[in-house]
Amino acid sequence: MTLTAEHLVPTHCPYCALQCGMSLSGTTVAPREFPANGGGLCQKGWTAGSLLTTPQRLTTPLVRSGAELVPATWDEALDLVARRITEIQAGHGRDAIAVFGGGGLTNEKSYLLGKFARVALGTSQVDYNGRFCMSSAAAAGTKAFGLDRGLPFPLTDIGDADAVLLIGSNPAETMPPFMQHLRKAIDAGGLVVVDPRRTPTAEQASLHLAPAPGTDLALALGILHALVAENLVDRDYVARRTRGFEAVWRIAVRWWPERVERITGVAAADQRRVASLLATARNAYVLTARGTEQHASGSDTVSAWINLALALGLPGRAGSGYGCLTGQGNGQGGREHGQKADQLPGYRRIDDPAAREHVARVWGVDPASLPGPGRSAYELLDALGTATGPKAMLVFGSNVVVSAPRSAHVVQRLRSLDLLVVADFVLSETAAMADVVLPVTQWAEESGTMTNLEGRVLLRQKAIDPPDGVRTDLEVLSGLARRLGQPAQRFPVRAEAVFAELREASRGGLADYSGVTYDRLRDGEALHWPVPGTDHPGTPRMFLDSFAHPDGRARFVPVEHRGPAEPVDDEFPLIATTGRVLQHYQSGAQTRRIAELSEAVPEVYVEVHPDTAARSGLADGDWARVISRRGETAARVRRVASMRPDTVFLPFHFPGAQRANLLTNPALDPASRMPEFKVCAVRLSPKDGA
Ligand code: SF4
Repeated sequence: MTLTAEHLVPTHCPYCALQCGMSLSGTTVAPREFPANGGGLCQKGWTAGSLLTTPQRLTTPLVRSGAELVPATWDEALDLVARRITEIQAGHGRDAIAVFGGGGLTNEKSYLLGKFARVALGTSQVDYNGRFCMSSAAAAGTKAFGLDRGLPFPLTDIGDADAVLLIGSNPAETMPPFMQHLRKAIDAGGLVVVDPRRTPTAEQASLHLAPAPGTDLALALGILHALVAENLVDRDYVARRTRGFEAVWRIAVRWWPERVERITGVAAADQRRVASLLATARNAYVLTARGTEQHASGSDTVSAWINLALALGLPGRAGSGYGCLTGQGNGQGGREHGQKADQLPGYRRIDDPAAREHVARVWGVDPASLPGPGRSAYELLDALGTATGPKAMLVFGSNVVVSAPRSAHVVQRLRSLDLLVVADFVLSETAAMADVVLPVTQWAEESGTMTNLEGRVLLRQKAIDPPDGVRTDLEVLSGLARRLGQPAQRFPVRAEAVFAELREASRGGLADYSGVTYDRLRDGEALHWPVPGTDHPGTPRMFLDSFAHPDGRARFVPVEHRGPAEPVDDEFPLIATTGRVLQHYQSGAQTRRIAELSEAVPEVYVEVHPDTAARSGLADGDWARVISRRGETAARVRRVASMRPDTVFLPFHFPGAQRANLLTNPALDPASRMPEFKVCAVRLSPKDGA
């Protein structure tokens, strides 16, 4: 079929934070010129139209009757949920109800979900799966700069860089169109990739550093040491724009590259080479992602990389900088509008009296009625059904059975609930456990805004009608709020009306959307927040004159290397690390339902060095047991010569006994409450072995 211009509805991909521009005609995808993707799409984007026609689509609410989920009307389902919430709160208090959101929800949904929790339920127990995503980078960025925006510059700026240090990121698989922005650095011999695995991204680097998992912080200290020792620090920048270098140097002075080599396995000469390459580049970027962030020391590790970037004089310099590549589709916006346990809209702290006053005024409630901070995502899941924890949970846009760490324990906790309600468009593994399942619309069937990894607000326009029987998440929240006694006008159902309220709630906050309107977005304006007025052009480049701390200076943050929370030992001698593959997205609830993608990668596998596999009695293609202290995963063996012999890798997109998160360690970062997804101790054995 030829797509003509009048058929095409401009929109954005339903998956990752690049939010590639695409057009839809019915359910047919066509690429669209947009700066982030330059007209390119990955396999996930090309096949995204199939999500809209999946035969596994839910079109009626389901209510549990014994072991079965049976169809119900919307009134029956919502009445039941509201009645059970009221009963449970009457018996156990407001915090007996938990709400779990997602980093793929639109800004409007994220906003209304947080408001629903704080106002309609009056619970403090609300958090979201973004806590598992980039919370360590957010915590470190806030400490260093006073404000965290994934990329505080337009993505296309990276295209002019002759050197890029990419840490714990594999965009060649996770967001392939991003690679076009690295072309100049690759051609100039300036791409350095830090990753324990030789990924498709690392293959394109001029220098690949493969530290032992969990030792990135030491590596950052070693490179900083080399920078100082070679007299390559930008001393003028450090003096004018920062504070705290001396305290950081007092630690880094002990981390000379040869010592770092013994811990990380990265050659001292390579550490010095990176320092020199970055310091002599005309334009350079330091970019972090999940590989370096998802650790129990994740926020300190990101602080160490930011310290390096500051010593190089990169943040806030035109054409250079530090940034975090967010992962989920609305990984940026999802954390700004109040679905996070410690935040209110506008990226405001929930314990700030002025913030509470402002948001309560917009919501038309008494500031004293707003709950305080609640539990972070894993702590919330861990507390479900306990004596002091929530007795019921409502889940929107998340599939925690597959995506949360220590998955078998999380399933136990979900089973102990008096009420589990899941809103989703298919029967995800979490929805299959629910007492009530609410079928909702998906990306192209509704309008809403997203904020991509560069802080640019995007309008994802409705392109097709949803199937009969489904409702939007906004309608679900509004319907429940009314049944819980809230006035209808307090929970609007039209996305543009919710956005108008979000703008007011964000006004004056760090993430100020007050000047963003649907009309400006429809007109194609490139609006990067903050946008503090409708005549304001937005802020594509932040920190050029000053950082967001009161004195305008960035902070060096002194941090010490402390290694993984669970070191290997004789019983569990290997390190398991997890990640994504090109064909799948997050828990796989969407991509496993697309034939082209699931046929390409149908099952979990474990990448193992051939020597390690041989020692474990495993041949290529065998099923292996990967066993940790928390559980075991059945995975197909792939012998990969470039793997570190001490490390195995599993993608985390698969359900049931193939869940990589059956293994992972929920040890939490003290600042961000990020679990240590990227390192746990395991052993391997043949499927029938011990
Ligand atoms: Fe682009 Fe990410 Fe969608 Fe792939 S998954 S098309 S990289 S937005």
